[in-house]
Amino acid sequence: MKSNFYSIKKKLIVPIILAQFFLFQTFILVAFAQSGVINSLESNMQTFGPGFMQDAGLAVQDNIIEETQPTKKQTKKKAKNEIDPNSANDKTFANKRIIRKVANANDPIGLVGYEPEEVTHIFFHTLTVDPKRAYKSAEAKGYNSNMATVDEFKKILQQLYDNNYCLVKLHDLASIKYYENGSLPNFVKKVSTASNIEKAPLRNPIDPKQEKSYTPYEVLRKKVYVPIGKTPLIISQDDVNYYHYMDGSGHANRLVIDNGEIKAAYKDKSGNELIGDYDLIPILDSFIKEHPDFSYNGARAIIALTGYNGVFGYRTDETYDINSSYFKASNKKTPNENIEEDREYARRIAKVLHDRGYEFASHSWGHRNFTTSSFSILKTDCERWKRNVESLLPIPCDTIIYPFGADIAGEEAYTDEVSRFTMLKNFGFRFFCNVDSNMYWVQIGNDYLRQGRRNIDGFRMWEALSGGKNRLSDLFDVLSVFDSNRPTPISQ
Ligand SMILES: [Zn+2]
Repeated sequence: MKSNFYSIKKKLIVPIILAQFFLFQTFILVAFAQSGVINSLESNMQTFGPGFMQDAGLAVQDNIIEETQPTKKQTKKKAKNEIDPNSANDKTFANKRIIRKVANANDPIGLVGYEPEEVTHIFFHTLTVDPKRAYKSAEAKGYNSNMATVDEFKKILQQLYDNNYCLVKLHDLASIKYYENGSLPNFVKKVSTASNIEKAPLRNPIDPKQEKSYTPYEVLRKKVYVPIGKTPLIISQDDVNYYHYMDGSGHANRLVIDNGEIKAAYKDKSGNELIGDYDLIPILDSFIKEHPDFSYNGARAIIALTGYNGVFGYRTDETYDINSSYFKASNKKTPNENIEEDREYARRIAKVLHDRGYEFASHSWGHRNFTTSSFSILKTDCERWKRNVESLLPIPCDTIIYPFGADIAGEEAYTDEVSRFTMLKNFGFRFFCNVDSNMYWVQIGNDYLRQGRRNIDGFRMWEALSGGKNRLSDLFDVLSVFDSNRPTPISQ
């Protein structure tokens, strides 16, 4: 830690000294906690607000975005899910404590099984390549708070690997069993008589006339296997769209296929376009090439896509198509005359990613807030996403990563009483991810799996460094990762 500390630039000295003070305070706390000398100091360390981090600020340039803040109702609901600083549960973050399970007799040789509830899920946004440019740009505050830098991400990967984490897929947590030819899952039989089956899980609010084409299914939990000594980890990346508003801000601008590999294109400050490891996907691929045991069974990351600015940096959306009735007047200056070629290229990128082990998720077409948007807005949005984004993917998508982390329900189970859930099911969604700062949060129902995710970004790292709760200590050492170019303090 010492060498890292002394390599940090002058401007960080004061915050780091502060951080050290708090680390020292933590040491004192740990030393005295058991003797009961200090109890109240713990509360002094909770200097930051809601741990329920919003996936905020990334798409605010577009006027289709409605909200950037959680509703009171939602915050309250999620607050129940927060770690109570006084509960025993909170101690999971007090010390680095990685769950490492021991294989038992039922596990296949060489492997160890984890329950889905024991799998942690972290996520990133587009990585900042040039912090100096990003933190001087118009969106500096958002980049500093919501993004990790390329430099930080490389260090984080190395430390996750050194801590024996190993990537698994979201689809390793559960499988979907479909019931064809009129048969029904047991849970439906148990709760339904012949007359009410039609009303509950088989209802199709999108098109009631299609009720009979809806195939019943059941979500079946699975044990998640990794080699003995490893701890399973899921990584996702949100908004892999390379929005217009990010142009020239020190971030990659699109993905490209380069000799069969997915790389990122990036314009440096002199305007030279470079192709290389300038975002999460190529960096992760290069890392796994060197450390194949960082991935079990070919798992990579989940790529969450919106639609309104196209995907992977290509303006593939119908709103850029002058021949489409959806062509948007505000895109007059940037119509895409090569839209069919770009869609084909995006399809090729998606296929390479899929073959590599990447999974895909809907992040909604218009970066919608699923808590507050109306049923009809969400339904139209899902249709647009399927038409413009799923059509570019090699397989149908069954996963939603909620924009802003804004879920359709609180921590109570999803049921068909929640019409949005029934709608999303009928669109084919089975896996639902919100944002939650707990180490683990997984809920499995008969017809869905929900998982909370943890944001890794400037805000969360600064929280740990400045004497707030360190919610990252089970993953990596924040002090040795934090980019010294970041202006501090960092608020949400
Ligand atoms: Zn987002």
